[in-house]
Amino acid sequence: MQNLMISVSGVRGIVGQGLTPEVALSFAQAFGLYCQRGKIVVGRDSRVTGEMLKHAVIAGLLAVGCDVVDIDISPTPTTQLCVENIQAAGGIMITASHNPIEWNGLKLISSDGLFLDAEQGQQVLKIRESNQNLANWNKIGQLSEYQNAIEDHITAILTLDYIQPQLIKKYHFKVVVDCVCGAGTVVVPSLLQKLGCETVLLNCKPTGLFPRNPEPLPENLTQLSQAVLSEKADLGFAVDPDGDRLAIVSESGQPIGEEKTLALAVKFMSSKKPGPVVMNASTSLVTESIAREYGVPVVRTPVGEIHVAKKMREIGAVIGGEGNGGVILADVHLGRDALVGMTLILQLLAESGQSIDSINASLPKYEITKGKVELKNISRSEVVERLQQIYANEDLDFTDGIKINRKNSWIHVRPSNTEPIIRVIAEAPTLEESQSLVNEMIKQIEALD
Ligand code: MG
Repeated sequence: MQNLMISVSGVRGIVGQGLTPEVALSFAQAFGLYCQRGKIVVGRDSRVTGEMLKHAVIAGLLAVGCDVVDIDISPTPTTQLCVENIQAAGGIMITASHNPIEWNGLKLISSDGLFLDAEQGQQVLKIRESNQNLANWNKIGQLSEYQNAIEDHITAILTLDYIQPQLIKKYHFKVVVDCVCGAGTVVVPSLLQKLGCETVLLNCKPTGLFPRNPEPLPENLTQLSQAVLSEKADLGFAVDPDGDRLAIVSESGQPIGEEKTLALAVKFMSSKKPGPVVMNASTSLVTESIAREYGVPVVRTPVGEIHVAKKMREIGAVIGGEGNGGVILADVHLGRDALVGMTLILQLLAESGQSIDSINASLPKYEITKGKVELKNISRSEVVERLQQIYANEDLDFTDGIKINRKNSWIHVRPSNTEPIIRVIAEAPTLEESQSLVNEMIKQIEALD
């Protein structure tokens, strides 16, 4: 992987190699100019390099005349929501999400609390390449702190019409929480305590020293699974370092898979407030089937939070998200939010009186398999064109790469934006079937190469 990855919604890199204070400063200056010198919220996850990068970002913003509101260690969704709440001109979240500890990055948030889209991101990159006009000494910005961002976030969730903290409290759920020593630690335990949960805290100090691979995939949650069992807890929650992705471990210690986070949230919301659901092209049929059971429309978008969020706004969707544990609830804000996800799931448990295992057992059964092919001779777009010819008689979807939809399964072939690879993802009622769909497609693509 390269040491610096510049994308439309920000930049990510290995600190000290690709990502230096100078790079952070130049992005902050360009973003500040793009925002026309308004008020900018700056948040960060708990990475040990966050403090250093924060000062570079603040210096860049002040230097072009922006006023900076520092909310320090906060999850990404808290920062997004804060931009909207205090009517800032934008926000910068310093995080590399689930990337390993040596990485960090900047995510750029526009005044509506959404990440920048491709067009907005291009404008920032253009400003960065041009002469950046620094403010005179008497026009540089002011720095202030805002202490209520976390409280505001919790309040926005607990005051939703369909969330009944009193009902959830009656159950005294015992919840093991694994925040991987990330930004979730500053808000998740407090939210759960407000919901009357008895919490067992794992990796809940915001040291930024991730004790395990920080991506909340089932294989990284063994400590959480064991703790749920030994503590005889009702469930376990794991969040990624910047608190936008949520994974669930059931009462029997089983990580139920991140796809199920969105599935359960959609199940709850479709029963309370039926309305359109938006998800990306690779999100599970489990979620889609649940939405269909409730008779609500499902709209698919390309992979990426910004695509889902913008489509939700466009069609007035109730809920949306991605299969990586990212739940977006329009009533709070249009960003993936692990706190929203856990609250919806606790309300679902309280209202149904069921456990995670029993709800999970009632969901439609599908299995996803993922693979990738490294391309040598053929371009990523040529692969898509050739597959379009080969599968011309099937139900094809070009939302993001090419997706072949079949009755109870699909195969999605998606060119990577950052590497010369093609991702192949398939879903079918059994693991055997989805694996064979992926293997066949990989062979097919290799034959074209
Ligand atoms: Mg994240």
